[in-house]
Amino acid sequence: MTRPIDPLIDRVLIDEAQLDARVTAMAAQISAHYQAQGNLVLVGILKGSFIFMADLARRLTIPHRIEFMALSSYGDLSTSSGEVRMMLDLRRPVAGEHVLLVEDIVDTGLTLQYLIENFRARHALSVANCVLLSKPERRKVQVQVDYLGFEIPDVWVVGYGLDYAERFRTLPYIGVLSPSVYLNS
Ligand code: 5GP
Repeated sequence: MTRPIDPLIDRVLIDEAQLDARVTAMAAQISAHYQAQGNLVLVGILKGSFIFMADLARRLTIPHRIEFMALSSYGDLSTSSGEVRMMLDLRRPVAGEHVLLVEDIVDTGLTLQYLIENFRARHALSVANCVLLSKPERRKVQVQVDYLGFEIPDVWVVGYGLDYAERFRTLPYIGVLSPSVYLNS
């Protein structure tokens, strides 16, 4: 059943079928890479990654455990403050494990850069990242994305876990938010 597009969404950028196919392909690639390594932990970066994380984790064909972290976000604004802060840390250490960071989107790159730095001190066997969306035009710092879902243009996207002011997270597609939403708030 096709759900109607929310009137506050300008257009669907990535539909459900495209998301499904890409996440399945990423999971296969990750499973193949970590199959021989063992001790894999997925670290989901809240809140935006929660749906991507759930879909990706369920498609992995290798054993793994799950952790979450929360970092400070943009709040309700669509512009970055440039400041990254840890709001919630891991429940268990990751020393001796292979870490795969799971992020919703890389924009300026500051969050991913912070995470990569932060995990250097944790004595993981390896640290890699898996990112659903990337906006290359917006990059302020160069960061390496190891597994990428889609490159997108410089637009504010919502759905599939991503929000605007805590709204739109449960849309089943990635949509471009109508500028009228943030211009009127
Ligand atoms: P960065 O540190 O790379 O600038 O930003 C990463 C974070 O910015 C993401 O985890 C996400 O919370 C937020 N972000 C950047 N662009 C978008 C967007 O288009 N939509 C949403 N919902 N969040 C975004």
